[in-house]
Amino acid sequence: MRVLVVEDETRVASAVKRGLEAEGFAVDVAMTGTDGLWLAQENDYDVIVLDIMLPGMNGYRICSTLREGGNWTPILMLTAKDGEYDEAEALDTGADDYLTKPFSYVVLVARLRALLRRAGRSETVMYEAGDLRLEPALHRVWRGDTEISLTAREFSVLEYLLSRAGDVVSKRDILEHVWDFDFEGDPNIVEVYVGRLRRRVDEPFARRAIETVRGAGYRLRTDGGR
Ligand code: CA
Repeated sequence: MRVLVVEDETRVASAVKRGLEAEGFAVDVAMTGTDGLWLAQENDYDVIVLDIMLPGMNGYRICSTLREGGNWTPILMLTAKDGEYDEAEALDTGADDYLTKPFSYVVLVARLRALLRRAGRSETVMYEAGDLRLEPALHRVWRGDTEISLTAREFSVLEYLLSRAGDVVSKRDILEHVWDFDFEGDPNIVEVYVGRLRRRVDEPFARRAIETVRGAGYRLRTDGGR
């Protein structure tokens, strides 16, 4: 597994590199944003660990530039604890997950492994609800003939909702299936993702496939929200 770490704090970068190498990852480190973007575009990484504040180009711009260029390598963004840099913004630029500094090394490895597992899914099933279709093996989603691009995490949330189409699923169910079972962050992250999915798969098509069931969770309509 090949990891790109984009981090300008030497101590953090070298500790992460040593630690990940001990876990069997092959690690490249970029100390500036411009180097990080270049490496990410030139090489085929399995996952990218991306700091936000970087010389040259910040993490948000790197992330959105990669996504706009069709690069869907899973990205874990490192955010600051002081709240100056918003997790929602990290996700909006196309990151798949974020970790707040300072982070425990064990948690970093667990998150990376979870991202890699999700990215490597290879079932051949196709999920359908009305004209909403999702193909896990190809990591592709369509509304009718229109293909929709989703981040790895958005894709996983939609995949889970589609796999349970017609059922009410709780936020806890979604967290347990899409995030790690030992997820310790804010469960409201599920709302953030559901909102993002609605903006991608429902609103542009004037549909309401993802329903909120008050006090219980969400239900994806089997008719795709027609
Ligand atoms: Ca930094």
